Amino acid sequence: MTGLTVPDLIRWWPPPATGSAHERVVGLLVALDGPAAARVTLGTHHRQLLALHRDLVGTALEAVVTCRHCATDSEFPVPVEAVLDLPAPVPENVVAVEAGAARETFRLPTVEDLDATHGLAYDDAVRRLAERTHVGGGAPLLGSGDLARLAAAWDEADPAGDVTVDVNCVGCGAPLAVSVDPVEFVARDFDRFIDRVLREVHALATAYGWTEETILALPTSRRRRYLELVDPRATARSLTAVSS
Ligand SMILES: [Zn+2]
Repeated sequence: MTGLTVPDLIRWWPPPATGSAHERVVGLLVALDGPAAARVTLGTHHRQLLALHRDLVGTALEAVVTCRHCATDSEFPVPVEAVLDLPAPVPENVVAVEAGAARETFRLPTVEDLDATHGLAYDDAVRRLAERTHVGGGAPLLGSGDLARLAAAWDEADPAGDVTVDVNCVGCGAPLAVSVDPVEFVARDFDRFIDRVLREVHALATAYGWTEETILALPTSRRRRYLELVDPRATARSLTAVSS
């Protein structure tokens, strides 16, 4: 997916009331790329989404974790460039797991497969994914050890599918290995970004009578300069809100 512009994002990003972060992100990507957008592997999906956020919003992507020891929230940046640098999925898109005497093969889970696990606990979700993605071998009866090895094999074959970040809690210092869902944080940031851009459009349209199209066609630096001229205090507040 290339060439998406800020006006495209404003047009196609589903409003918050229309569904979960995951549903909205898939809705956006399917609107842009067609149904094939839901059939990519999770790692490819995460990388496409992070690249889209970087190209359109261009600011650091903040994530937050609540410490399981002291309940303090710690903010940390999602290591976007590191995730984008992870290897692409193995080209054959298949992993093999030895289960008892049998060798079972599974394709890599896609966005559609993940949809089918909605609401399930982790172990049940992995089992559902295993059922959906099984492509070779017998009819597997997978124990929990087999499922854990399958999940590990998927992670190795499509490393951007499960993004884990090591963080130290700001409250108690405990090391936390945080599983980050890029979808949640990109969706939250798209909401903030569009809200900010629409406020800017409103201020400039009110002051100058320009159309939305004209205002969005301005480079960001020029838009900011005009906003300063219209109301220096409002611009200062807007920039503070963005950086907080
Ligand atoms: Zn803590």
